[in-house]
Amino acid sequence: MESLTAREEYEKLCRIVSEHNFNYYVLDNPTVEDSEYDELMRRIKKLEAENPSFVTEESPTQKVGGFALNTFEKVTHTVQMGSLQDVFSVEELYEFDTRVKNAVSGFLYCVEPKIDGLSVSLEYVNGEFIRGSTRGDGFIGEDITKNLKTIKSIPKRLSEPLPFLEVRGEVYMPKKSFEKLVTEQLKNDEQPAKNPRNAAAGSLRQKDSRITASRGLDIFIFNIQQIEGKTLTSHKESLDYLKSLGFNVVDGYKTYDNMEDAVKRIEEIGANRQSYSYDIDGAVIKVDDFAQRETMGATAKVPKWAVAYKYPPEEKETKLLDIEINVGRTGALTPVAVFEPVWLAGTTVSRAVLHNQDFIDDKDIRIGDIIKVRKAGDIIPEVISSVSHEPDSEPYKIPFICPVCGGRAGKEKDEAVIRCLNIGCPAQLLKNIEHFASRPAMNIDGLGEAIVKQLVEERFIATVADLYTLDMNELSLLSGFGAKSAANLLKSIENSKSNSPDRLLFALGIKGIGQRNATLLLRHYGSIENVMKAEKEEIASIENFGDILAENIYNALRNPDVINLIERLKSYGVNTVYVSEKKSDKFAGLTFVLTGTLPTMTRDEAKKLIEDNGGKCSGSVSKKTSYVLAGEEAGSKLTKAQELGVKIISQDELLSMLEE
Ligand code: NAD
Repeated sequence: MESLTAREEYEKLCRIVSEHNFNYYVLDNPTVEDSEYDELMRRIKKLEAENPSFVTEESPTQKVGGFALNTFEKVTHTVQMGSLQDVFSVEELYEFDTRVKNAVSGFLYCVEPKIDGLSVSLEYVNGEFIRGSTRGDGFIGEDITKNLKTIKSIPKRLSEPLPFLEVRGEVYMPKKSFEKLVTEQLKNDEQPAKNPRNAAAGSLRQKDSRITASRGLDIFIFNIQQIEGKTLTSHKESLDYLKSLGFNVVDGYKTYDNMEDAVKRIEEIGANRQSYSYDIDGAVIKVDDFAQRETMGATAKVPKWAVAYKYPPEEKETKLLDIEINVGRTGALTPVAVFEPVWLAGTTVSRAVLHNQDFIDDKDIRIGDIIKVRKAGDIIPEVISSVSHEPDSEPYKIPFICPVCGGRAGKEKDEAVIRCLNIGCPAQLLKNIEHFASRPAMNIDGLGEAIVKQLVEERFIATVADLYTLDMNELSLLSGFGAKSAANLLKSIENSKSNSPDRLLFALGIKGIGQRNATLLLRHYGSIENVMKAEKEEIASIENFGDILAENIYNALRNPDVINLIERLKSYGVNTVYVSEKKSDKFAGLTFVLTGTLPTMTRDEAKKLIEDNGGKCSGSVSKKTSYVLAGEEAGSKLTKAQELGVKIISQDELLSMLEE
């Protein structure tokens, strides 16, 4: 008889796993370590083995954990994209070996690294790449062709025009790209990506393929799903063939006729994990021969002819000596763990970001603790947990005082981050000025970190506006600064006055106004003065803005310090008026609303085209809307337009209106 408590435990664990699947596969933001997730799954499997009646089609052991979202067009996989059965010990590898021996004889094993990325299918017709999709739930995935096209190593045309080919591969973020992304995110006071796998998944499921293109993703192909025009009989043969077609196939695959040698290879891959330029989370061992695979078959979720051996993450224990507080450009106070140095994944590490108070509370991290550390993606050190506290230790609280200026720090509602509230804080000031002068902002050549530091320390500048009052006399007093460099710097400062004001708006470092939003605001309002006068609701109606962002921007632009700063910059002649690259007045007096995915243009490109030709774009449909420009998967705006009888046009119709 089944025990009620076992069923209750089983159902509870299934609910927890389902929630983790959602966070991991849909939000690309897991809230627990993979090892913790694997432990939950092991417990579920044990309960199922003891109580077979618990298992239903919906059990997490019976189906792939992913989902296909409506954001993308859905793709039905003709050949299911399954998962792999995990094993965690050499003993389990030999159990697999016994199962194989019981089913087939005279077999070979193929061993290859298991890349920690995101599974995709690529389809080719007559040798042309026509469609790429995510795994989703294994049966239905998402069409992400546009984004996959940005990955250079995906051949757009094969060396042979096979009538049809579908391959499966793993898109991953190389360690270098991950490091670059995290550095940028930390610099911008953004929450850094947790590991290369989630960063890759998040990058691949972007609506804007330019973002995907900027993330340096790559791919390894590891399977043929379907093929016409060629007969292949084994896995190794198919990988060799894929290579000849121009694919990047999974690295270092080798075949063995016995489990002993295969285990040695699995251990060798594990021992060299750090030397790979990408993250691997295991090794896959597969029966090589296709006919033998057929004999062994599959369960609803995994093939019976392969298993994935998962390596334990390299973790070390060390002592937490201190928690330091760093102050970022936006005043964010970031706690950083300083611990006794440990050798981890190829380097000595002694510091790790602790993110915020919630992170510290969740793990109950206290100074003096023995902590467990590891490197995310073998790169970014992170504290996994506190192992033990010192007898008289106290929970750690981030002080509400800025460690640099001694000013008050505070926390906005719904925000996990504590910020220094002193806008004149030197830590913020230095970083703000560096940001102001940086290339994507005001692009002031020659104003690097060291010069900014000297200028602030010598008290020549206390705000970015003071840059415009600098003169030769002051600059000549700076050490190591010759007359020529001084003249060049003054020239760059002078030149920056005539920048397009979207650069200035971005340079001010206002929360929520990145490069793209600055341009969108200026295109919409025409000048910084108009942006400053804009009402919350109006900002919120600009495409991609929304209420929270609009509120942040609205409040920031009503801060007297910001208003005074902009006034001063204007008084020195810094440009605040946006001149659009107007090409014609064809759309003058017309208001457009854009919705859905257009066939070849991004919505921003279409918007720019409309505005450059005198038209206006709005975020919501009303009776005053002249046209709704609709692409695929258009949502409620299209319905509203139909209800109000607003004319709906396609991208082609828009372009022909221009040509008329
Ligand atoms: P999996 O990632 O363990 O294994 C299957 C995948 O391996 C395949 O989809 C394939 O794309 C990939 N793969 C990489 N290299 C391969 C190769 N050489 N040959 C064949 N396949 C290769 O399985 P899964 O079902 O995608 O995910 C389950 C795992 O994801 C869990 O074990 C867990 O570690 C992690 N997970 C974590 C959370 C969390 O909240 N932390 C939630 C869900 C899943």
